[in-house]
Amino acid sequence: MSEGPKAFVVGWPIEHSRSPLIHGYWLDRHKLAGSYAKLAIPAERIEEFLRAFAGQGFVGGNVTIPHKEAAFAIADVVDDSARAVGAANTVWMEGDKLVAANTDTHGFMAHLSVSAPDWRKAARPVTVLGAGGAARAIVHGLMSAGVPEIRIVNRTRRKADGLCAYFAPSASTLLRAWDWDRRSDALEDAGLLVNATSLGMVNSQPLDVDIQALPAKAVVADIVYAPLETDLLRRASGRGLTCVDGLGMLLHQAVPGFERWFGVRPEVTPELRQLIVNDLRSEKC
Ligand code: NAP
Repeated sequence: MSEGPKAFVVGWPIEHSRSPLIHGYWLDRHKLAGSYAKLAIPAERIEEFLRAFAGQGFVGGNVTIPHKEAAFAIADVVDDSARAVGAANTVWMEGDKLVAANTDTHGFMAHLSVSAPDWRKAARPVTVLGAGGAARAIVHGLMSAGVPEIRIVNRTRRKADGLCAYFAPSASTLLRAWDWDRRSDALEDAGLLVNATSLGMVNSQPLDVDIQALPAKAVVADIVYAPLETDLLRRASGRGLTCVDGLGMLLHQAVPGFERWFGVRPEVTPELRQLIVNDLRSEKC
C-alpha cells in the first residue's frame, strides 16, 4: 500500500508546534494514507531545505517562526495572500517551482466569522494591538472585508507607521497608527479589538489595557492561544462582550494546506478543538 503524500512543518525551535496533531487528526478522520513531519531547521539551512524538500519525497508543508519571511523571499511564486502580508506559512511545489502562500489571514477571518458572525454589523472602527507579522495578516483580512477604519496601536510607533504605509492607500479603509500609551483610548467606539501582540501569552508579560471604553456590543479577539482564555478574554467575558480565542485561528489556518497536500478539504470540528485544548492543558497552559 502506498504511504501517501508526505508534508511537514518546519521551524526553529519546533517542539511545541501543534500542527502535527491537527494534520494527524484529519489524516485519521479521513482515513487517508499520508504523513506530516515536524522538522527543526535553523535559519542558515532553511533555503537549502526549501529548495530540496521535493527530493526528500515531501509535497509541501507549513513554515513557522522564524522562517515565514525567508519562505516568502525564497519562493519562486507567491500567491496574493503571501504578497499582501510579505510572509508565507504554506509552501508546495508546482513543477519545479516553489510556491508560497499565507493562510493566517484566512485562519483569523474564518474563525472570526464562525465565532462572532455579526462582528461587522455595526461598521465601527477596529483596533489592532501589534504591528508584527500576525497583525499584518489580520489587517489584510480586515481591509479585504471593507472595515471602514483600523487603528494600529503598537509599542514601537515606527512599526505601526510602517504597517500603515505598507497597506495604504485604500479607498475603503482608513488606516491610522496610534501611540502605545493611548491603547485604552483607541478602544473608544471600536466594534472589534484584536490583540495581535504576544502579550498575555504564557511566559510573556501581561497585556495592560483598560477595556472599559469598548461599546457594549464590541467583539474582543485574542490571537494568543496559550493560555486559551487569556486575561484579556476573561475581562471581556466578564463585561459580557463576545470573545474570539486564538485557537480557532490556528485550526482554520491549517485547512488550506491540508487540502492542497492531501486532496480533501478538512473541517474544524469540536473534537479537533478538544484534542488541542487537552494538549495545551497537558502543558499547563
Ligand atoms: P512578531 O512579528 O514578533 O510581533 C510581536 C508583536 O508583539 C509586535 O507588535 C511587538 O511590538 C509586540 N510586543 C512584544 N512584546 C511586547 C511588549 N512587551 N509590550 C508591547 N508590545 C509587545 O510576532 P507575530 O508573528 O506577529 O505573533 C504575535 C503573537 O501572535 C505571538 O504570540 C504568536 O504566537 C501569535 N500568533 C498566533 C497565531 C494563531 O494562529 N493563533 C498565528 C500567528 C501568531 P514591537 O513592534 O514594539 O516589538
